[in-house]
Amino acid sequence: MEELREVLKRCRRCRLWQVGLNTVVGEGPVPSEIMLVGQNPGAEEDVVGRPFVGRAGRFLDGVLSENGFCRSELYVTNVVKHRTPRNRIPKQDEVAACMPYLMQEIVLVKPKIVVLMGRIAWQVPRASRAFYVETFHPSAAMRFPRVRRRFVSDFRRLKSLFNST
Ligand code: URA
Repeated sequence: MEELREVLKRCRRCRLWQVGLNTVVGEGPVPSEIMLVGQNPGAEEDVVGRPFVGRAGRFLDGVLSENGFCRSELYVTNVVKHRTPRNRIPKQDEVAACMPYLMQEIVLVKPKIVVLMGRIAWQVPRASRAFYVETFHPSAAMRFPRVRRRFVSDFRRLKSLFNST
């Protein structure tokens, strides 16, 4: 994992290394039974250098703890490891350039369950033997009540799935 972090810091596979301050690598225990995958870091994550520490992260932490999960027990990461200009959605070539790093994280973390949060994360190839769960991105869940209800119930189901695996 340390090696991967070093490679990521020096990555020039796409233009995004020029944006922002930090490369935001995943965090959490290695190995870990559950891996959460988001889109890419936002402004706050970029400053702190950690995934999901801004508004969406605080919302996610709330839903996790309501369902008996502790954030520090899970591995949390993103498909794309840099913020984007004006927080635009990452372009397809940026997603493709960063995807191999996520695939390496999955090999190292060996999750039993991978939770793909949002459209960009839904593109992750199902290459490991993990159980893949698709849900919405926490930012969408924060904004739209119908999405929020689905998001919350997906995490409730995740708890039963986790208990049965
Ligand atoms: N949104 C994401 O997809 N990832 C983060 O780390 C923060 C916000």
